[in-house]
Amino acid sequence: MKLSHTPVDQIGFDQYGVFVKRDDLLHPEFSGNKARKFAYFLDQTFPGITHLVGYGSPQANSLYSMSALAKLKGWQLCFYVDHIASHLRDNPIGNYRAALENGAEIIDLSQAEDRQGRDTLTYIQEQVLPGREDMLFVPEGGRCQYAEVGVTQLAREIIAWKQQQALKSLMVFLPSGTGTTALFLNKAFCQLDPSIQVYTCAVVGSEHYLRLQFSQLENDSASHPVILPKAKPYHFGKLYPEFYQIWRKLSCSGIEFELLYDPLGWLVLAKQLPKVSEEAVLYVHQGGLLGNESMLPRYLRKYG
Ligand SMILES: *Cc1c(COP(=O)(O)O)cnc(C)c1O
Repeated sequence: MKLSHTPVDQIGFDQYGVFVKRDDLLHPEFSGNKARKFAYFLDQTFPGITHLVGYGSPQANSLYSMSALAKLKGWQLCFYVDHIASHLRDNPIGNYRAALENGAEIIDLSQAEDRQGRDTLTYIQEQVLPGREDMLFVPEGGRCQYAEVGVTQLAREIIAWKQQQALKSLMVFLPSGTGTTALFLNKAFCQLDPSIQVYTCAVVGSEHYLRLQFSQLENDSASHPVILPKAKPYHFGKLYPEFYQIWRKLSCSGIEFELLYDPLGWLVLAKQLPKVSEEAVLYVHQGGLLGNESMLPRYLRKYG
């Protein structure tokens, strides 16, 4: 099972050459940054654990990756969601379908009689975890200190590649959800090779939200990634014609990108490229291609 040491390719974008770290080529069940973030759990043994507990969106890449982790470890995944849209429950697709096939139990809290208005995390903390030593809880999107182990390994691979290429400095770009990957990546570069700087953009929330996430994981703001601005506020998971357009343009490179994070990532990076044309740029492909199974039909229906 390939869980590290992915290759780097180069693609042409406008008149610029951009290197792409192919983490989409990690083992398909752990495609991309969830493999990096969950490496700690894959490597360790957890005596007495029989259940893995998580929460988030029923279409999340992390749901699928956690279901694969649980299957490998022989654990039962209990994944709590705020609600499941009826069309998804009736026609499982993408990460949701694949997680069910891996044996995940996906619990829809909108149907729970004992919810008492609590949000998903509070419900888990008050109603699920107390007294259960056999449960291992992973915060939403794998946002936790454990992720540092695998993301530091990714940093080491990028440093080794940069040395091989004899580059003086390097700009690394990746789009952020919780910001866990970008933060730990930049923190590792600060310690191991300060000539590499991580740039990112906020895909899930505002730039303010992302900065807050960084601070929760790491006090020292000197090791926080640089957040590049978006042209306008975009809602996570919504369809935009410019997203589909840039995704199609990228498809010509021969590399398939995903449709939730990458389109905004590339839009933001494209605006930056003319300003950094002297600099080597590496885009981290964070996988997540299974999500295209549900996103692409939505785009085709809307924009043909
Ligand atoms: C989870 C995920 C992200 C976001 O990663 P964070 O560490 O939460 O910022 C980005 N891209 C893909 C494809 C993902 O699956």
